[in-house]
Amino acid sequence: MNKNRISRRSFLKSSAAIAAFVSAGSLAYSETQQAFNNAPVSPLKIPGWRRGHLHQHSFWSDGSATLEEACSLYRDAGYEFVVPSDHGRFQADTDKWFTPEGPKRAAYERGQERYHFPMETKEEGGKLQLRMRNFDELSALLNQEDRFLLIPGHELTTHGADGVQVHSNLINSRAEVTQELVDKLEGQAPAMYMSRQITGDKMSPHCSGYESVSWSLRAIKEMIGDTPKDEVFFQFNHPDWIWYDVQPEWLCEQPEIRFFELINCGPSLPVRPDFWTTEKYWDIINAFRADKNQPLIMGTATDDTHNYQRFYDNFETAAGGSVMVRCDTLDAVDLMKALNRGDFYAAVGVWLNDVQFDKSTGTLAVDVHAEKDVNYKIDFIGTRRGFDKTFRTIDSPKEGRYPARKINVYSESVGEIFKTVEGTHAEYTMTDDDLYVRARITAMVPARCTMRGKPEHPTCWTQPVQK
Ligand SMILES: [Zn+2]
Ligand SMILES: [Zn+2]
Repeated sequence: MNKNRISRRSFLKSSAAIAAFVSAGSLAYSETQQAFNNAPVSPLKIPGWRRGHLHQHSFWSDGSATLEEACSLYRDAGYEFVVPSDHGRFQADTDKWFTPEGPKRAAYERGQERYHFPMETKEEGGKLQLRMRNFDELSALLNQEDRFLLIPGHELTTHGADGVQVHSNLINSRAEVTQELVDKLEGQAPAMYMSRQITGDKMSPHCSGYESVSWSLRAIKEMIGDTPKDEVFFQFNHPDWIWYDVQPEWLCEQPEIRFFELINCGPSLPVRPDFWTTEKYWDIINAFRADKNQPLIMGTATDDTHNYQRFYDNFETAAGGSVMVRCDTLDAVDLMKALNRGDFYAAVGVWLNDVQFDKSTGTLAVDVHAEKDVNYKIDFIGTRRGFDKTFRTIDSPKEGRYPARKINVYSESVGEIFKTVEGTHAEYTMTDDDLYVRARITAMVPARCTMRGKPEHPTCWTQPVQK
């Protein structure tokens, strides 16, 4: 047998930890291509819509899967585009080796058992090392015209000295400049100031979570550079997790932040039901923004996947958060433009044939892609002019390394249900009093998966609109 060629058999040997060094460039392309493209056809295809996943991790940061497995699992679950978004890192290196140990070794073998990806491996000090395919290599293998697309991204990861975590995804930023800028800017991130002793950084080493939010926005702008704004997508991640506590008021004051992760079915910390639900959080921002004629914030849904075991426990229910984007082409720039226009909805298990807003009449209409024998409830939710802007403040006590906080709780007039319809088609016509309206469509069956962060019922959310 030719030792320099990875066949399935030799791969299996390497996965059994038999030392096998395989030199780069020795993988037979057609064989490799075949191993990557043996995917089932997408089980969900609604004409006019593209299903995407905007937030997931791999061995390139703190995820428990190769990039190959992480992306393929989402493809096989019916997603047409995925954004691998590792913390502070774009997968650019051409010579990056990783030693999967403990649970990560088990995760690696589990993934290889399913996919048999040809991998370059070597052994050092008795330990298996993998060369990690970078984004471009993997795109060349996985992308399939009009069927599957990888889009570059990364999660800018920083926090304030007060412990507030500030994470955001920059998506479809130009691959060739991203890593350099990420290194530079994350090296200057407020929370890293003290440890890295970056000189010339004007940020205070004791900057707050609030300052960290505005710092992140500036960093993202620098990363975007000259790229047309609508060709990249920037979303603020999981701001309402307990202890992360990016206050909604901060996002009211940063109207340039136009997208946030409404639903994160990941390793998430819970939101604070005693202070906000995730939808209340959304409405607080939009009520105050609409009141000041500022752009509304729109919501995405993702899994923020770190641990892919969920796919092996129950493949059918593993994938949850999706964005459904109205886009004819499976093209990164077209998809980013549609997202930036707000031509998408956030979904966890409920799909739409159509959502339309007629600005001249102020009518928002939704048509559900109904499953057999499932009943649906359609709520139209918004906030009216003259809403009660007062709030009471609750103390959030110190817990472990998390400091004490104060959190504002707003009245019921922020995020009211204007109208409810049981059925698969409904519309709502805005009155002159309505600041904005959005629709939430709930399937009246229990959620098949109860990952923390997933809603109790399959649900989708359309974006808020204004007359
Ligand atoms: Zn995060
Ligand atoms: Zn993440």
